[in-house]
Parts: sequence; structure tokens; C-alpha cells
Amino acid sequence: MIDGCDREIDHLRLSLTDYCNLACRYCAPAGAAPPAQMIDRRFAEALVRWLSVRQGIRHLRLTGGEPLLYPHLIPLVRSFAALPTLPEITLTTNGSALAQYAGPLRDAGLTRVNISLDTIDAERFAFITRGGKIEHTLVGVEKAVALGLSPVKVNMVVQRGFNDDELVNVARWALSAGCVLRFLEVMPLGPSAHVMDKHLVSADEIIARLSEHFELRAIPQTLGQPAVDYAVSSDTVSGTLGIIAATTRPFCDRCRRLRITSKGAVVACIHDDRRLDLTCCWDGERLDETRADAILFDSVMNKPAEGKRSQSLPMIALGG
Ligand code: SAM
Repeated sequence: MIDGCDREIDHLRLSLTDYCNLACRYCAPAGAAPPAQMIDRRFAEALVRWLSVRQGIRHLRLTGGEPLLYPHLIPLVRSFAALPTLPEITLTTNGSALAQYAGPLRDAGLTRVNISLDTIDAERFAFITRGGKIEHTLVGVEKAVALGLSPVKVNMVVQRGFNDDELVNVARWALSAGCVLRFLEVMPLGPSAHVMDKHLVSADEIIARLSEHFELRAIPQTLGQPAVDYAVSSDTVSGTLGIIAATTRPFCDRCRRLRITSKGAVVACIHDDRRLDLTCCWDGERLDETRADAILFDSVMNKPAEGKRSQSLPMIALGG
């Protein structure tokens, strides 16, 4: 699939539900959550089959909300893994239920996992996630590493005043746990975008701070990869750290992504409010692929060359 700017689109992020058991401050708006939305399992299967077999999607990331809370997750992963056109199936999770699901997910064909963890301090974790318990996520990380869902990547959204004093501690912890750590710049979007702006810590600052403690050697980027990775070493630990600078160094020119929300809307650009409904192509049994092709064409051909910063949905509804 080639978009209107000649970018190949082969990565799909599918949000299975907009419900999450945590409510991270930069991801979920304050106040009561709207009623949970789960994508219909057979609709999700039909969408992924169509997108992979007919439209060239090769990498699938399951997300949410919290994808581990989706009731049909394991059979869904098994059905995706049976598609010869889909070599990579990954999942982004808060890890709180991963100790229970990592084994069944690996057996069903999940390739690897990204786990979100912004701090290794229990009190801060509870504050950032509005009530989460860090120990659940830590055992989830351990289990994923032990089962070889690797490389296990830990995502840390860096926020000034919340966790920016923990860059080095989290890096040491992640490397000794056998994980790749990715520092994410916070992306201001949704109703609280103006608040997130105030907490942004730039990639330049993150690198400068890390360089005081580690020797960083840039690893050449693979095509379309948004993260800049570094091989790091210090007296005590070594491994890989990466930075995703989606805000200060947007990678729109290399973006290969398409998103589908748990409401069945296709989103070509995370920074653009345009969403096109695909549920009109689903009659409860069959996907009208001809109609879906036309909607997808409209979405992909109008994927903006650069993010317009007009996204009204919070990340929890978009799928990260
Ligand atoms: N519940 C899962 C989790 O916690 O990983 C999956 C959904 S979450 C929306 C996916 C990813 O988006 C997480 O790594 C989260 O930290 C990241 N994220 C959420 N809001 C963000 C924001 N405003 N800026 C940058 N990353 C964000």
C-alpha cells in the first residue's frame, strides 16, 4: 500500500478495546471513563486478513486501552498467526496481567511485547497511573523475558516533574532485567494536550543527561524505524536504549503506520483528526472488501505529509 506521499504503509496498530485498568495521566482524560468499547472479534479477524492478504500489512501491533483485557485475545492472536502474510504480531501492554498471559500469548504466536513503565518507584507509579500497582507490571516484565518474548521493550514516557529524574535508574534497571528501554517524548494530543506540552522533555535533553552516565553509540536505523537506538555501556550494565522523539523530531516522512480504533475507524495519521468508519463494511458475518478498499484508499491517499496537531482523541482511544 503506497500513500499519497509515496510512503509504503505496512504497519497496522489495532486497538482491541479503549478500556484500560490504569489511567495514565498523559493517556486517559481525568474523570469517569466512557463505556468500554470492544471491537467485535470476527470483525477484527476479517479486517486483519483483508489488510494483510490484500493490502500488504506485514506488521501488526495489538494495543488499546489495555489489550490483555480483551476477552478473545488468545484465539485472535492464534488466527492472526495463521496468516502467512503477517510475519510480525506484537502487543503493547501495561503489563499488569502479563504474568498470566505471556505463556498463552507466546504459544498462540505472538512475536514479542512492549511494556509501558514510566518509573520504578511504586508511589510514583500509583500517581502516574492513577492507582496502579507496580509489582504486577514488574512480574509481567520478568515473565516476558523468561519466556523469550524478546526483545522485550520497555516504553518510558518521560515527563518533566514526574519522572525525568529517573532516566538513569530506569535505564540501569531495564538493562539489568534484559530489556531494551525506549524513552518516549510525550505527544500532546487529545483534550489535555496543553498540559502535556508543559511536561515535555526533548530527545536532545534526554540524550545529554544519559551521556553523563553511559557511553552511547548510535546504531544505524532500519528503514521506517521511528526510534533512534544506542548501544550503551557503563561499568555495570550494557544493552540497548532508544529514543522516540515523536514531538521534537517527528518522523512523518518515514511513517508506515495505519491505525484502527476499537470503534472500527481507520486513522491514517495520529496527529490528524480524520477518522473513517469501517463498520459500514461489516454486516456481522462478512466484510465487504470492495467497499472497505474504497474507504482505505481515501484514508491512505489523504494521510497528511506532516502531522497537523489536530487530534482531538486522547491516546487511550487511539491505541498508542
Ligand atoms: N495499555 C497499553 C499500555 O499501557 O501500553 C497500550 C495502550 S497505550 C495507549 C500505548 C502506548 O502509548 C504506551 O506505551 C503509552 O505510554 C503511550 N502513550 C500514551 N499516551 C501518550 C502520549 N500522550 N505521548 C506519548 N506516548 C503515549
